[in-house]
Amino acid sequence: MSTPTVENVVIIGTGCAGLTAAIYSARASLNPLVLEGPLPGGQLTTTSEVENFPGFAHGVDGFQLTQNMREQATRFGTRFEQTLVQSVDFSTMPRKLVTAERTILAKTVIIATGASPRLTGIPGEKELYGGKGVTTCATCDGAFYRKMDVVVIGGGDSAAEEALFLTRFASKVYLVHRRDTLRASKIMADRATSHEKIQCVWDSVPVAVEGVAEGAVSGLKIKNVKTGAESVLPVKGVFVAIGHIPNTGPFAPPLAVDEGGYFVPEAGSQVRTNVPGIYVAGDCSDHVYRQAITAAGMGCQAAIEAERWLAEHNG
Ligand code: NAP
Repeated sequence: MSTPTVENVVIIGTGCAGLTAAIYSARASLNPLVLEGPLPGGQLTTTSEVENFPGFAHGVDGFQLTQNMREQATRFGTRFEQTLVQSVDFSTMPRKLVTAERTILAKTVIIATGASPRLTGIPGEKELYGGKGVTTCATCDGAFYRKMDVVVIGGGDSAAEEALFLTRFASKVYLVHRRDTLRASKIMADRATSHEKIQCVWDSVPVAVEGVAEGAVSGLKIKNVKTGAESVLPVKGVFVAIGHIPNTGPFAPPLAVDEGGYFVPEAGSQVRTNVPGIYVAGDCSDHVYRQAITAAGMGCQAAIEAERWLAEHNG
C-alpha cells in the first residue's frame, strides 16, 4: 500500500487572503494545495470595480483581480482542488482535513475561509445584488452613487460607518433601523444621527427591494413595525449592513473563536492560532478592517509563518 501524501501547506479559501498565501508559499517552493469552496475568488468577485487596491491607478474589476492572483499563484506551482472541508482533526500530526471525497494530510494549514455578509432575505435583494444596486460594501461601491439617494439597512457600527462613508458621495443617505436607537458605539451613533445628509428611519424593517423588472434598484419598500405603515424610499443604492457570518464552523473547536464566531489569533500575532502550525487570515478572523488589501496582508503573514514553522520542524 502506498504511503498517503502529506502536504506541506494546505490553504483553505481562494479570496485575497488565500490566494496571497498561495503566492507566497508557492514562491517559497512549498508546493501548496489550495482548497476552493463555493465562492471561488471570495467576496471581491461580488463587487464590480475595485478602486482602492494599491497598484491599479484606474481601478480593477474585482473578478479580474482575483483571477490575476490565481494566475500568479498557479505560475509558481500552486495546485487547486474544488472541495469543502467538512471537519478537521488537529490533534494529530500530520493534521487531518476531511472532505466529502477524501482525508487530506497536512503539516501546516492556512484557513482563509472569509465571512459571508448577512442578508435580509427580502424579495429583490438577491436579484439586484452585485452591480445592480444592492451591495454590502460602501468602501467598495460607494463612489458609484455620486449625487444619488441611497439607503443603509442596519443599526450597528458597520451601518453607521457605511452611512457616514456614503455621505461623501450620495446626496442623501437613509439609515433604516428596526429599533429607535442604534446599537453602534456612542461616538459612531452620534456622528451618524447628527450628520446633515443622513436621515434615520426608526422602527422600520425592509420589505422589498424595488426595480427587479428594470434590472436596477429603484427603491426600498419599508414597514414601520409600530404602525404597520408601508412606504417606499426612492433610492438607487441599497447597502445592507446587518453583520457578517464568519465561515469558521468546521474548525471551531479546536480553534478559538469569539462570541461572533470569528477566529481569535494568539496574543501578539494576527494569524497564529492556539494550534501550532495552523494559521488564519482574512475576514474569517478580521471583523474590523475587512478590506481586500488587509486580507492579502494577512495571507502573506500566514504563509511566512507556515514557512518558518516548516523550517523549524524539519519541514
Ligand atoms: P452588529 O453589531 O451585529 O449589528 C448588526 C445590526 O443589524 C444591528 O443593529 C441589528 O439590529 C441589525 N440587524 C440584524 N439582523 C437584521 C435583520 N434581519 N433586519 C434588520 N436589521 C438587522 O454588526 P456590525 O455592525 O457589522 O458589527 C460587527 C462587529 O464589528 C461589532 O462588534 C462592531 O462593533 C464591529 N465594528 C466596529 C467598527 C469600528 O469600530 N469602526 C466598524 C464596523 C464594525 P439590532 O440592533 O436590533 O439587533
